[in-house]
Amino acid sequence: MGLGAAFQGLDYANVESLLSDEEKLIRDTVRAFVTDEVLPVIERHFRDGTFPNNLIPTIGAMGLLGANIQGYGCAGLGAVAYGLIMQELERGDSGLRSFVSVQGGLVMYPIHAFGSEAQKERWLPALAKGEAIGCFGLTEPDHGSDPGTMATRAVKKGDKWILNGAKAWITNGSVADISVVWAKTDDGIRGFLVEKGTPGYTTPDHTGKFSLRASVTSELILEDVELKSDAILPGAKGLKPALMCLTQARYGIAWGVIGLAQCVFDEALKYSQQRIVFGKPIAGFQLTQRKLAWMATEITKSQLLNLQVGRLKEAGSVTPQQVSMAKMNGCRVARECSHFAREILGASGIADEFQTGRHFCNIEAVYTYEGTDDIHTLIVGEELTGIAAYK
Ligand SMILES: Cc1cc2nc3c(=O)[nH]c(=O)nc-3n(C[C@H](O)[C@H](O)[C@H](O)COP(=O)(O)OP(=O)(O)OC[C@H]3O[C@@H](n4cnc5c(N)ncnc54)[C@H](O)[C@@H]3O)c2cc1C
Repeated sequence: MGLGAAFQGLDYANVESLLSDEEKLIRDTVRAFVTDEVLPVIERHFRDGTFPNNLIPTIGAMGLLGANIQGYGCAGLGAVAYGLIMQELERGDSGLRSFVSVQGGLVMYPIHAFGSEAQKERWLPALAKGEAIGCFGLTEPDHGSDPGTMATRAVKKGDKWILNGAKAWITNGSVADISVVWAKTDDGIRGFLVEKGTPGYTTPDHTGKFSLRASVTSELILEDVELKSDAILPGAKGLKPALMCLTQARYGIAWGVIGLAQCVFDEALKYSQQRIVFGKPIAGFQLTQRKLAWMATEITKSQLLNLQVGRLKEAGSVTPQQVSMAKMNGCRVARECSHFAREILGASGIADEFQTGRHFCNIEAVYTYEGTDDIHTLIVGEELTGIAAYK
């Protein structure tokens, strides 16, 4: 069943009028890329459980990798333009947006913020072009929401570091040329750059995922991995730098999931206008309209929140708690929208001929990673009350 008209995006509150011409151009360019190059292949990749690697050079050439980083071959865009890129990519697929988020927010950002000049020169231009791929290893099999309790250890021996431990659920793990790995040292938590092929370092993939299938997710196993002393990120001391990376990536997720929500809204609206049941389009039933109106309202509120958080980020005054609220809100809205859209599509809602079912599955991983809904609730709760309720 073809659903006709091309995707326009939902803009009920004329958020468009709050964007610069450059921001609109960037959004429209990425939207066209997703329509022309991602959507025709993504269903096959999701079925096969593969990432569309052949798109990486184009993504790099478009300047989408580390797009908000200054220098080293990066585009140096503002936070709102960066957010719009994430929104459009995730309209295509959460796996695609995850690839770009991890590369930019979790690998290029820490190298740029905490790396030595030599590390920046070596990795940032190649990562920006997509010639090198990166991953970020924080989560462990027994430590997810509480990364400060990690078991991975790095011990200094002469002029070398010896790493032992395991990371789990790492996006891009087995395809990464360079991994940002967080480990406990006698001096607290530190970040290390571990190169692919280092003896003792293996990266088995997680299989059997029903979510983020068009994305590589791996374990990182470290068995007496020997690194030179210059493999440490000199400026990253303690857990805070790792959490600063997460704030970068969470900001992108807040925008990305509203691209997902717009996609399922668009598909559900068009489907409901064409699907005839009891002699009339299901769009004409009040119960369907209630779902569509809820989706449009929540998407609109989220667009305004994301835009304001983005403007605060550009002004340098955004707080991690505001980013937590945007990530938490966006994921809740996208999750609920994908549930309503799946309902509206009836049986078609579970067929991968339509996009809704894939997004319905994907949002489950995005709702969980980079801080679960519970954790972001507690972060905002702590900010409001002054009382930490994590433990
Ligand atoms: C597809 C995918 C890709 C990922 N990519 C990466 C990556 O690239 N790098 C990386 O480091 N990690 C990655 N992750 C890991 C992700 O960040 C973790 O899964 C997430 O932080 C949650 O950890 P956990 O799964 O161990 O859940 P747990 O921490 O075990 O939590 C289980 C449940 O308990 C709840 N909970 C925990 N603590 C509390 C509390 N104090 N109060 C109330 N409820 C609580 C949680 O909200 C959750 O519902 C990825 C995960 C997935 C699924």
